[in-house]
Amino acid sequence: MNLIDEIRIPILGNHVTIVSTRRRLRPKERKESVDKCPFCPGNEELTPPATLALVRIGNRFEFCRESRSGECSPWIVRIIPNKYPALDPNPPTPTARNALKARGFHEVVVESCKHVHDPHELSDEEYALSLYTTMTRMRDLLSIEWIKYVALIKNRGLGAGASIRHSHSQIFASPYVPPRVAEEVKQLIDLGTCPLCSYVEDEYLRNRYLVYESKSFALLVNDAPRASYEVLIVPKKHESRPSPNLEILRELAHVMRIVTKFFVEVLRTESYNMWFHVAPKGVEDFHWHIEAMPRLGIWGGYELSSDVYIVEVSPEEVAEKMRSFVSSLEREAVDSSEPL
Ligand SMILES: [Zn+2]
Ligand SMILES: [Zn+2]
Ligand SMILES: [Zn+2]
Repeated sequence: MNLIDEIRIPILGNHVTIVSTRRRLRPKERKESVDKCPFCPGNEELTPPATLALVRIGNRFEFCRESRSGECSPWIVRIIPNKYPALDPNPPTPTARNALKARGFHEVVVESCKHVHDPHELSDEEYALSLYTTMTRMRDLLSIEWIKYVALIKNRGLGAGASIRHSHSQIFASPYVPPRVAEEVKQLIDLGTCPLCSYVEDEYLRNRYLVYESKSFALLVNDAPRASYEVLIVPKKHESRPSPNLEILRELAHVMRIVTKFFVEVLRTESYNMWFHVAPKGVEDFHWHIEAMPRLGIWGGYELSSDVYIVEVSPEEVAEKMRSFVSSLEREAVDSSEPL
């Protein structure tokens, strides 16, 4: 096979395409087996050396970088280069006229040393440590001169693009700003006010769409979702990017865990996607947030052709359902005197 790895800027359209033929070599998970899982402790030799790992030393946590796989042990969180990267620090020369080098970083965050499938199977503290390690790595990648944007996404289940079940997320550090993010940055400038600040503050929007709030975060149903049950997690403070602050990340972990628990245990979906939208390099006026959606159906031709979405469940109905789920969690927590 002739390997082609390059970024294509389309002749028509506003999207970006990465042609990455090596992604075809990716394994599909064969069977549910802990000793074969490439992300479980003890199997580090199946993956490249960690670019960043969080290790426990006594009752302290420390960051560690590997030159040999398995060197940083026992780890709690492990970030590794993707074995089949869509973006690579040393890509081949592009072959097409409208192509750029697919230069960047594509890494996998193994969110826990425990073989769990979802964040809600971890505690707030455990998931916060994963977010803390991830935010630190994202900040390091953004400081590289030619990197313009660092994306963080989480795919769960085959229907959402994940081939391994062990709970993980992915980082894409790219030499371009993804068009969707560029559009949000532009919208904020054009509007002159921040739509996410109004989501959090406006009484009308709060009454309709707010599901849950903590000191620093609001969980809201998207008022015009692209898929039924699309939600937003919005920090109450207008900030361009999340920072590695463990106390705040504990709160964020709690909200994210409510969302994944709802998707998996109430909607009973195998697949969901979750992603962060943060400020690109050089942009300081932005309100970072998380968008998440279960993959309950597939987009048809109308959605794909027109960027117009048809959903079957109203956002108001979703808000109602999610609020009662949160109350049931709170009741359970009181009964068992354990959080979530
Ligand atoms: Zn595993
Ligand atoms: Zn804002
Ligand atoms: Zn967004």
